[in-house]
Amino acid sequence: MKFIFRTPGFLLFMGLLSMSASRPVSQNAAIKDPRLYATAWFAISGERQALYIQSYKLATQQLSLRSQGRQKAVVADIDETVLDNSQWALRVLMEGKDYPEYWDQWEQAASAPAFPGAMEFFQSAASAGMQVFYVSNRSEKNLGALIRNLKASGLPFADSAHVLLKNKTSSKIARRKIIEKDYDITLLLGDNLADFDGVWEDAETSKRQLQVMANYKNWGKKFIIFPNPMYGSWKDAIMGYKRNMSESSADSAWNATLEPYSKMVKW
Ligand SMILES: [Mg+2]
Repeated sequence: MKFIFRTPGFLLFMGLLSMSASRPVSQNAAIKDPRLYATAWFAISGERQALYIQSYKLATQQLSLRSQGRQKAVVADIDETVLDNSQWALRVLMEGKDYPEYWDQWEQAASAPAFPGAMEFFQSAASAGMQVFYVSNRSEKNLGALIRNLKASGLPFADSAHVLLKNKTSSKIARRKIIEKDYDITLLLGDNLADFDGVWEDAETSKRQLQVMANYKNWGKKFIIFPNPMYGSWKDAIMGYKRNMSESSADSAWNATLEPYSKMVKW
C-alpha cells in the first residue's frame, strides 16, 4: 500500500506529525504497515467507542417505531458489528503478521468483547418482541465457540437457530431470504455494505457509492452502519475482489482508484 505515501494529504499529515513529534518519520512504527493506523484507531480511540454507542442508541430508537403485524426481525452481522476483533488484529499487525494468523485460536477462545451499547440494544430488541438473527461469515466449525462468546456477552438469541454462518458462499442474500420466509426484517446492522443488501455484493467503488446515495432514506432507520477502516468490501472493491495480488498489482489498483479522486479537488 505504498500509494499512501504519494498522496499530498498524507505527505502533509506526515509533515505535521513529524514536526509536532520532533522525531524522524521513519521512527513511526505505523509506517511499516499503514494498516496499523486504521487498526490503532479502531482498537484504542475513544472516537470509535463513542461511534458504536451512538449507532446502537440510534438502533434502539428504531425499535420503538415498530408496529403490529407479521413478526419483526433484526439481522446483525457479527465481526466489527457486535464483536470487537481489534485485539486480535492489533496483535497480528504488531508482530508483522497477517490474517489468518491466530484467527482460529481467537475464534476458539470466545473472548472477543461485545461493543459498548450492543448488549443493551439486543436485549431491548428481545423485550420489544423482535427476533434477532446473527448473520456472519465466520466458519461453521467454530459455531459452538461463537455462541459461547455471544452468551458470555449477555446477548440474546445466542443459539444455532439464530446464528447463520457461512456455508458455501460468503453472500448473505440466501440467508436473509430464509429469515424473510417467517419474519419481516425491519432492521439490519453491519460494518460492511453487503451486510444490508445484495446490491453491494462484488460492486465496484463508484457503484457502491451510488447505491449508498440511492438508499439515503434507509441509513439511520432500517440500516445501522458501524465504522470499519481495518478491512472490508470497501478495500476488496479497490482490488477488484481479487485475492493474493502481487504487491505491484495491488499498488497499481490502489493508484487507479485513488488517482481520479485526487484530481477532483478544485482550487
Ligand atoms: Mg463485519
